[in-house]
This record gives sequence, structure tokens and C-alpha cells, in this order.
Amino acid sequence: MSEYNTYEELLAAITDDSGQEVKNPATDEVVGSYRVGSVADVNEAVAKARQAQAEFAKLSDEERCDLLLKAADAVEAAAEPLAQLLSREQGKPLNGPNARFEVGACSGWLRATASFEHPNYTAVDDDITAKVHYRPLGVVGAVGPWNWPMMITVWQIAPALRMGNTIVVKPSEYTPLSVLALVKVINSVLPEGLVQVVTGDGEVGAALTAHEDIDKIMFTGSTATGKKIVESSADNLTRVTLELGGNDAGILLDDVDPQAIAGDLFWGAFINTGQTCAAMKRLYVPESLYDSVIQALAEVAENSPMGVGTEEQNVLGPLQNHAQFEIVDKLVKAAKDSGARVVMGGDPDYDAPGNFYPTTLVADIDPDNPLVVEEQFGPALPIIKYTDLDWAIEQANKLDVGLGSSVWSADRERAREVAARLEAGTTWINSHGAVDPRVPFGGIKSSGYGVEFGTEGLKGLAYPHIING
Ligand code: NDP
Repeated sequence: MSEYNTYEELLAAITDDSGQEVKNPATDEVVGSYRVGSVADVNEAVAKARQAQAEFAKLSDEERCDLLLKAADAVEAAAEPLAQLLSREQGKPLNGPNARFEVGACSGWLRATASFEHPNYTAVDDDITAKVHYRPLGVVGAVGPWNWPMMITVWQIAPALRMGNTIVVKPSEYTPLSVLALVKVINSVLPEGLVQVVTGDGEVGAALTAHEDIDKIMFTGSTATGKKIVESSADNLTRVTLELGGNDAGILLDDVDPQAIAGDLFWGAFINTGQTCAAMKRLYVPESLYDSVIQALAEVAENSPMGVGTEEQNVLGPLQNHAQFEIVDKLVKAAKDSGARVVMGGDPDYDAPGNFYPTTLVADIDPDNPLVVEEQFGPALPIIKYTDLDWAIEQANKLDVGLGSSVWSADRERAREVAARLEAGTTWINSHGAVDPRVPFGGIKSSGYGVEFGTEGLKGLAYPHIING
């Protein structure tokens, strides 16, 4: 049983009627209101987090894991109200790899984070006994985006708590209710002060990340904001983990069966309606398979309904905000103007409610077109023809981002050889974007640095204290 058995109960627990309204990006209807935080709130929350951390750090690893498991239970018990709220605020449908899936990932990640092997170890031989203790850093400041607001918040909270830190979270101003609700549910089973949320805009985010009493910054969002955060962290030499945007390439080899892979290929690109950092954002296809791949993808797209998130049949939703709609619209227009072929979509209804941009496939496109080389972060996939695999690999590697990539082949060994030549934090074979709590995840180049998940991720929320001798 949860304290929040219904969506209405959950919303009532976090809403502030005199605050800022949040609208459903699918319908333009008001979802709820929240109190907008300030720099003073940041200062207060950081002071409270500092105080709570001193006691929290005294708990054993087992006790901290136990709290994570209790938090997972609480999220599970309130899963449907959380998914209902997430769908209304973020826009993503309840079904498909969307709102219910995201809430499921939250409890899954909390549970998994309690199960990882602790990073402590001892280096020992005849001459040395060095015990490596990973100690808490202190207070973590976390800033998050609007695409997977609950799941990414858990990615920040869970390892921070496991390693004995307290955390202050600043959600995106587009999705504050989702994060307020998730933390409300988690806090129903945690001691006071371990996890706090301060809402507000980029100024509040900047006050948090530049705060002199923050020991670690966890940031997921754009490369531009990531750079500002790194600059402002210099004064305090605050440690930073950056999970920034990407422009992931997928390369098909000439032995794939287009029909067999079309579903996985589609969801690799269109998960969360394309609003995913590690989604496939450009697809390279050998000339011999070009038409059949496009046709197979179009068939999956036609059978993947887009619409209001709370209508159970839908699996694709609106863009979360109008600014993002405009980015996608501008990039598809640039592709059209250049003479690229729009296979489907590309024709949004500007008068309809919501930020819906139709599922769009663009073929016969120049490899340097903006839709290919800039991150679209929406439901528009450019499909580039190739005849020379070396050329396709070069294209995949030529951008200044490197989050994910994928290689698709009937011959896994052949795919692995190509994968080894790609520059990215993760290269998937015959899938794209599936993350696993046990496996490190992070980017290279302008996609950021530091990794999340697994024991490697835990090390980013702690410092090694070596007792040598
Ligand atoms: P931003 O990087 O601007 O926002 C991410 C978070 O950072 C938000 O909570 C934002 O606050 C906060 N923020 C903004 N300015 C600062 C600052 N100076 N210091 C600290 N925190 C700050 O991303 P957008 O939401 O504007 O999205 C823009 C682009 O970023 C997208 O088009 C997409 O390409 C990429 N993106 C990547 C994501 C990923 O998963 N890697 C997720 C989302 C976007 P607030 O929004 O409240 O002002």
C-alpha cells in the first residue's frame, strides 16, 4: 500500500495552487501548479543536506542499501499514479517504452543500485597492504532534463545515497511535478533531508551547481549548459559528471534482414518520440538494402500510433515543449529545402493542440545536411545511403559527440569488428539505446565525461581513501 493510491492523491500532495501552472504538452490543459524555488531555497536545501549527511554517513552500507530497497518498494506501490502524472506532464504515453516503463525503471534502478558490488578493495602482496575505502563526497547537486525526468533523477539519487551522500535535485522547469512527485514518494520511507528538490529555472540550477558547499555535480542536459557548469565549478573545484546530448549513428551491414530488425531499429530511434540522449539519430544503410529498410521502417511507423499520452493505444506522444518542436520543425524544413525526400511525416498541423510532430522518415539526404549533423531530439530520422563501409564508419565518427552508436548484422563477429572502430561511450549490436543498471554508461567528446551505473558509477559519487600499510 502507498500513501498515494490515486493520481489525484499524488498530485494533491505536491501541487501548490498559488504557484506556476504546468500544461500537458499533448492537450495544452493545466496539469497542476508548483511553487517555483529561488536561490534562497538552494542555500537552505544545501545547508539542510549538509547537516543530514553527517548522520547519514554513519550508516553501514547494508543499512543504506536497505533504504534504497524501501524506496524501490514505495515507487512500486505508487507506480500507476506516478505514471499517470508523468504522462500528463511530460507528454509520453502510458504504454510502449514510455511512462509505465519509466516508472518501472525507477524502482528497478533503485533495487539494482543496492545490489552492486561495493567498490572497496584491498591491494595486497608481500610488500603492500593498501585498503581502498570509497568514502562519501558529501552533498550532491543534481540538475536534470525533461525527457526522462523520473528515471534520470533516480540515476542521480540512487548512487548518491548508496555511497553515503545527501542530494539536492533541480528538475527541468518543464517537468517539475514529475520530480516533486517521485521524490515525495521516495521520501515517504527515507530519513528527512537526504533527498530534496528545489524547483526553478536555469538561474536556480546555476546557483546549485556553483554553490561552494556542493561536493559533486551530476548533470544531464545539453552540451551548452554542461560547459557553463564546468566553468562555474572551477572556483570550488567541484567534481562533475556530465551526461550531455548525442547524435548517435546506426550502421546497417549488408547481411541484415530488414523485416526482422525493423521493430528494434524503429524503437532505437523513436523511443520517447525521439527525445532520448542515446537514441539513434542518423541511420546509414547499404545501397543494396536501402529501399527495403525504408519500407520496413515505414510499416512499423504506420502501426505505432501517436497521440495523447493517457489514451492507452498510443505509443508515441508530443514533443515535450514548443522550443523542441521548433528545433525539429526547422531541421526537417532544412532537409526538405535541400531536396531530401520525405518518405513520411514532415507535415505538422500547426493549428492542432499540443506539440505533436508526426513520425518522419527522410531519405536521399546529403550526409552534411543539418538534420544529419545536428541533434534533432525528436521523431525525425534521416536515412543515409552508403556503398563503402569505411565511408559510413568515417561519417559516424566525424561529429564532435560520442554518446552511443550501433551496428546491425546477421554476423555478430563482423558487427563487433565494425563496433570496435566507432567512437562512442557505448556501441550496441543489433539494438540501440538499451541501458542496463549494471553496465557503465557515459559519453566521450562533447557528450560529456564520467560514467553512471554499476560499481563504476558508484565510484563517481565517492573518493578513494587509501590506508596503506
Ligand atoms: P538544458 O541543458 O538547458 O537544461 C537541462 C537542465 O539544466 C534544466 O534543468 C535547466 O533548467 C538547467 N540549466 C539551465 N541553465 C543552467 C545553468 N546555467 N546552470 C545549471 N543548470 C542549468 O537543456 P534544454 O532543456 O534547454 O534542452 C536543450 C537541448 O538539450 C535539447 O534540444 C537536447 O538536444 C538536449 N537535451 C539533452 C538531454 C539528455 O538527455 N542528454 C535531455 C534534455 C535535453 P531549466 O530548464 O529549468 O531552465
